[in-house]
Amino acid sequence: MPDVIAPEKPQPLLALTEDETLFRDNIRQFAEEKIRPLSKEMDEKGVFDKDVIHGFFELGLMGIEIPEQYGGGAGTFFEAILAVEELSRVDASAGVIVDVQNTLVNNAILRWGNDEQKKRYLPRMASEWVGAYALSEAGSGSDAFALATRAELKGSDYILNGRKLWITNGKEAGIFIVLATLDPGAGYKGITAFLIEKDFPGFTVGKKEDKVGIRASSTCELILEDCRVPKTNVLGEAGKGYKIAIETLNEGRIGIGAQMIGVARGAWEHAAKYAQERKQFGKPISEFQAIQFQLAQMATEIEAARLMVYNSARMKDAGMNFVKEAAMTKLYTSQVAERVTSLAIEIYGGYGFTKDYPVEKYWRDSKIGKIYEGTSNMQLQTIAKLVIK
Ligand SMILES: Cc1cc2nc3c(=O)[nH]c(=O)nc-3n(C[C@H](O)[C@H](O)[C@H](O)COP(=O)(O)OP(=O)(O)OC[C@H]3O[C@@H](n4cnc5c(N)ncnc54)[C@H](O)[C@@H]3O)c2cc1C
Repeated sequence: MPDVIAPEKPQPLLALTEDETLFRDNIRQFAEEKIRPLSKEMDEKGVFDKDVIHGFFELGLMGIEIPEQYGGGAGTFFEAILAVEELSRVDASAGVIVDVQNTLVNNAILRWGNDEQKKRYLPRMASEWVGAYALSEAGSGSDAFALATRAELKGSDYILNGRKLWITNGKEAGIFIVLATLDPGAGYKGITAFLIEKDFPGFTVGKKEDKVGIRASSTCELILEDCRVPKTNVLGEAGKGYKIAIETLNEGRIGIGAQMIGVARGAWEHAAKYAQERKQFGKPISEFQAIQFQLAQMATEIEAARLMVYNSARMKDAGMNFVKEAAMTKLYTSQVAERVTSLAIEIYGGYGFTKDYPVEKYWRDSKIGKIYEGTSNMQLQTIAKLVIK
């Protein structure tokens, strides 16, 4: 069976074009050579290697969909998804750094930025700046639009006050998309998106969380104390930030789905290899039907999850409505990732439960899939609204 296809025909979902295959293979090689050797240490220290981030820029992974005129790769959303999957197969923290950059931050600037903002920010996003996306606060997670960070217009600047919590890429980012409200009494209608540079007066990055999984990805508090943001740095229209938040997160969820299938694949590959090496009762444990069936069940679930990710991403690139599919994708892929990584530990037996072997990290990294960019309950709520008429 060829796995490279002519682009003009209706295609099997897992088939890739020649360009996509090349793109994926380059990332796979980079992940194996540059990330795999560092992954354990980055996890232990809770710090992502700066040279690897530099490598992401050099490979074009930080501006996949940014048009060529701004120095980007002029690629597709599907390619961004492939990148997140391949990186996460080796290291889920690498996956989420590239995911937030492309599916949330660049995506929002591309869709809602005006010409001047695109000229100012997109070349930097493609070449040097990591981006972060700041919606959540201590008191508003699932109920995101109950956010309390306040923005007030004073002359030609907005003055922002408040705190954001759980912000991915907080330590590394040069730019932050921050959601704040102009009028707490106006509910979602007051919410506005701001482009905030790290050096803007009154802006600081606070405490970094010490997490169970994706430990090398920084997750930080942001502090805004009379933070002065020029009016020209409103992204989209004032009071329309809720639309930006909802729509970018719809796309972001497919990215998290890609992260989850990458994590599941990574764990499965280790488990399958180990099962062929580990001998009990005089033969490799892979010769026991029970182990074969476990690996087969895991592979089947990964295949189903991957089809959902690829389909949602292809729908997005085709300009179709993908809200339901994205929610289903995130819900299901995070369940599969948790099950597969947990079984991978069991296939390793006692060794799997130690930090000397790689599978426990995949298990820890899988857990976040059910939490960020909308918990599983929030995905179910969206799906229920769309399927129950
Ligand atoms: C590692 C990490 C990285 C993150 N990165 C970012 C980021 O970059 N930017 C950002 O803005 N945020 C980020 N977040 C925040 C994340 O999106 C929130 O944690 C998530 O949306 C859940 O919010 P919460 O933690 O306040 O939980 P809560 O909303 O308090 O939820 C707690 C529980 O209650 C359930 N629940 C809540 N409301 C309902 C309801 N109506 N019906 C049924 N069940 C409900 C939830 O499903 C969950 O099980 C990150 C979080 C983590 C842990």
